[in-house]
Amino acid sequence: MGLLEGKYAIVTGAASARGLGKATAQLFADHGATVAILDLDEAAARAAAADIGAAHLGLACNVTDKAACEAAVAALLAEWGRVDILVNNAGITQPLKSLEIAAANYDAVLDVNLRGTLYMSQAVIPAMRGQKSGSIVNLSSVSAQRGGGIFGGPHYSAAKAGVLGLTKAMAREFAPDNVRINAICPGFIATDITGGKLTPEMLEGIIAGIPMARAGEAGDVAGCALFLASDLAAYCTGTEVDVNGGSLI
Ligand code: NAD
Repeated sequence: MGLLEGKYAIVTGAASARGLGKATAQLFADHGATVAILDLDEAAARAAAADIGAAHLGLACNVTDKAACEAAVAALLAEWGRVDILVNNAGITQPLKSLEIAAANYDAVLDVNLRGTLYMSQAVIPAMRGQKSGSIVNLSSVSAQRGGGIFGGPHYSAAKAGVLGLTKAMAREFAPDNVRINAICPGFIATDITGGKLTPEMLEGIIAGIPMARAGEAGDVAGCALFLASDLAAYCTGTEVDVNGGSLI
């Protein structure tokens, strides 16, 4: 018996083959959920959905576009009649230093990581409130907690710190409706965001700073998302869970 039998779940930014969203969508499907994968490209979203099993849907949705978020959620509610889980996973990074960040860089990174999290949450919460149940899982980052990181840039750290603030404020607001909102702070996880850009020396340096002495895998984050999405976490809201191999010890 899966942990998400009969549940309907949306995972944003889940078309990337090696990404955290795809691994999460797959694990949710394995646990009995019906899943919708939302991503920028419709064909990629559909292919990823087909990949995780026959019952699942792939939709185009740019999470920075409020109308697109509302339209995608409306289409899913028409199909499913309810939505139980939202994973706000879509995110982008830009490896810039503070003095290199132009207005367009700032806007792009804040828009996808932070504004998109708000818009998708606004789109699903009315239905979750009506059901008196729902779980939203937001992807923050260790970059929010300690700054730095070679991939993200300070505007990425700021956006992901914003995600933590949004998580706690919205968790407080919707707790009386039994809509739980939590965040995951992954450390260094091997995906397309982190892969391909590192020399062996850079990788060695990163691993040396991780007490568990390895990069995380997408499944490590997916397992945490499964816990937070499921009834195992029925009394958890407003929390942030670190999935970082001990990087903050
Ligand atoms: P990824 O690049 O593999 O996947 C990100 C996905 O988001 C892609 O499929 C992309 O098409 C999609 N996307 C980008 N902009 C979008 C938009 N406007 N609307 C809809 N979809 C959009 O990234 P990943 O490594 O799997 O990361 C997933 C999440 O986890 C991100 O929020 C990232 O910031 C966060 N995170 C990752 C790591 C890591 O080490 N990989 C660490 C901490 C946090």
